[in-house]
Amino acid sequence: MPIKVLTKNIGVPDLQCLHVYESLGGYQALAKTLREHSPAEVTEIVKKSGLRGRGGAGFPTGMKWGFVPKNTGKPVYLCVNADESEPGTFKDRLIIEKDPHQLIEGIIISAYALNCHQAFIYIRGEFVYGSDVLNEAVNEAYAKGLLGRNILGSGFDLDLMVHRGAGAYICGEETALLESIEGKRGHPRLKPPFPAVVGLYEAPTVINNVETLANVPHIIQNGAEWFASIGTERNAGTRLFGVSGHVKKRGVYELPMGTPLRDLIFDCCEGLREGRKLKAIVPGGSSVPVLTADQIDVRLDFDSIAAAGSMLGSAGVIVMDDTTCMVAAARRIAKFYAEESCGQCTQCREGTEWIYRILTRMENGSGRTGDMELLLDLCANMKGRTICPLSDAAAMPIESYIQRFPAEFAAHIQEQRCVVA
Ligand code: SF4
Repeated sequence: MPIKVLTKNIGVPDLQCLHVYESLGGYQALAKTLREHSPAEVTEIVKKSGLRGRGGAGFPTGMKWGFVPKNTGKPVYLCVNADESEPGTFKDRLIIEKDPHQLIEGIIISAYALNCHQAFIYIRGEFVYGSDVLNEAVNEAYAKGLLGRNILGSGFDLDLMVHRGAGAYICGEETALLESIEGKRGHPRLKPPFPAVVGLYEAPTVINNVETLANVPHIIQNGAEWFASIGTERNAGTRLFGVSGHVKKRGVYELPMGTPLRDLIFDCCEGLREGRKLKAIVPGGSSVPVLTADQIDVRLDFDSIAAAGSMLGSAGVIVMDDTTCMVAAARRIAKFYAEESCGQCTQCREGTEWIYRILTRMENGSGRTGDMELLLDLCANMKGRTICPLSDAAAMPIESYIQRFPAEFAAHIQEQRCVVA
């Protein structure tokens, strides 16, 4: 049976409007929170639900909140990561544009749990429409007493600000995001200290993804046990999968964690284009290792995808059929990361550009003997040695494309042409 949690109201006319959201039960979880629970109880409920971050890393949300030190004399900030810049990823955008109050309600409840009185939504610069929708929804929430002073007469105060970035992928990295809000160039910070201790304006800060926080009202309203009963034991809840590429029906699909990849591609998306065969699948945004067609029965949860040698990441699923040249696909990804490297670390600044240049000559029929080995060596030296994970994100997919489709790369070098029909 399909389970819809986050998308159950998508399609209702004027869902962005507060009165429509409220008519569907919206903000009842907030009222219940303020009426019945202490902040510590809310954190405990979220911990028990098993909710893991939906931005990429899959870190347990309640545990992340628990890292915030208490009574430091400094404010606590909550920053919502709505940067969603990973190629192939477009699921947060659905919530932002179609159901913004679901997110805002999640933010208010989460801020209450964190004793936070100032929250920010950091939205990528290109999401102009999403930013307008959010600002409108925030204004409505203020007018109705759901934001600002003494929310619903509870004595709890929260201000929420929508902050538009300037369109850099690296600002999705949480410390670069903080630098950007502070008005500086979006350069990732050295860690430790981690943001939970020294974050925005040097104060304790929690950074959570849009989809993660949109789950919180449902957890409060229906209980931790209900949420934990969806999905698998260590991967609770549903997930929004944004599917692009060579399928018949691209789009965002909400499925319980642990659903087989086959069901997503062949049931939800109605399979591949007519007459074509499946070749490769990127399961979690462009930065994760690619899967091969024979891995179609892997389950879509953090642990199963990791066991299959990739990552669920941002759940941006890119499907490639047998017309895809893997060298060209690798080169396109390499170009993106070479352009988006912030340049602070030598391995990343030089490595991303070097990979792109080698793949370009390979694709153009000028590949050299030893280029595959050189690329693998470069990738190995770019991982785990830099300030932030962009360098790993650039190296991991390229490494996997070569390791899983070696004949195609070798043919490009030996025959000096593409062998894909
Ligand atoms: Fe910048 Fe790349 Fe270093 Fe990250 S890994 S800090 S993007 S140079």
